[in-house]
Amino acid sequence: MVKFVGTRDIIELVNRIGIATVFAEIVNEAEADFARWPDFEKVARVASHSTDGVIELMPTSDGETYGLKFVNGHPKNTATGLRTVTAFGLLADVATGYPTFLAEMTITTALRTAATSALAAKHLARKDSKVMAMIGLGAQSEFQALAFKAILGIKTLRVFDVDPAAAKKFARNLADTGIAVTYLTSAEEAVTGADIITTVTADKRNATILSDNMVGAGVHLNAVGGDCPGKTELHRDILLRSKIFTEFTPQTRIEGEIQQLAADHEVTELWEVISGTKQGRTADRDITLFDSVGFAIEDFSTLRVIQRLAEQNGLAREIDLLPKDGDPKDLYGLIRSAARNTDRMSA
Ligand code: NAD
Repeated sequence: MVKFVGTRDIIELVNRIGIATVFAEIVNEAEADFARWPDFEKVARVASHSTDGVIELMPTSDGETYGLKFVNGHPKNTATGLRTVTAFGLLADVATGYPTFLAEMTITTALRTAATSALAAKHLARKDSKVMAMIGLGAQSEFQALAFKAILGIKTLRVFDVDPAAAKKFARNLADTGIAVTYLTSAEEAVTGADIITTVTADKRNATILSDNMVGAGVHLNAVGGDCPGKTELHRDILLRSKIFTEFTPQTRIEGEIQQLAADHEVTELWEVISGTKQGRTADRDITLFDSVGFAIEDFSTLRVIQRLAEQNGLAREIDLLPKDGDPKDLYGLIRSAARNTDRMSA
């Protein structure tokens, strides 16, 4: 039996149990999965690049459950009324190979990306962090803001987007959330006095959203928008002053901010910090950088959370994805017996 959770179901789920609960569940599940990182099969995602975007497949397995996400990234889409990122995902039983769960992952990817950012910041940002700057107020932005409030208690934001309409939308969506937002007219103004800086812009080029002079000692950088070859957000000099944390380094070397650095530049994987194998921030003056690109294990954790929460809330529907009845060796027989039934009905 394959269960399905669609866009409407996710919306219903989030509204019913509250987005803070969803973030807490994903962070807990992802934290536990990062702590058992060596249990997972890991491969850099399979990317099909084109002039204006990328289509990617992101698989992983823990030996019992297999997970896969299909996701695109097309920054120019919004100019024609389409979304930059859309996705869907599945879980399957490794023992039989049967798919067990299929889900929308456009909204779910935003939930998992923000939850992973908050998880990284929980381990890397200064414990007294109170103010976050956010550059880029597109589709991912409110999720980032709400995850940082839910997990780190960040309630003060300083934000900037080149598009005034994005700022208006952000203000509308965050009204009544208890988050105080100051709207600035440049990235430089927005980052002033921030303990955490989130960059979540979309532009398929090596952009300089932050230059070196904009990042002071002690800051935690949550760099989300640079996630493709030739698509970065930070000036290289910032990377040279930062302690850099990645998800799965072979993938991040291709897609992350560190594509600007030598292939042997030292980085630490986030799971090493979470499992206590390596140190994260060691001093208040450290600049920590979470070079987020999104990795399959985060989708795996998130799909399992959505599956569980949807089941608990009666929101997972059975779908007709696999043939149910009949002799497993007689696949054509299903068509023949259906044809006979159709003949009988029309006779
Ligand atoms: P979006 O197109 O909805 O929003 C991007 C916003 O950035 C827009 O409002 C745009 O006006 C703004 N922007 C562009 N250039 C800017 C600049 N120079 N200064 C300030 N604002 C600027 O995109 P989205 O869905 O919110 O995604 C944002 C980025 O995050 C994309 O690059 C996407 O590929 C990436 N992403 C990363 C992950 C991950 O796991 N790391 C996951 C999902 C999306």
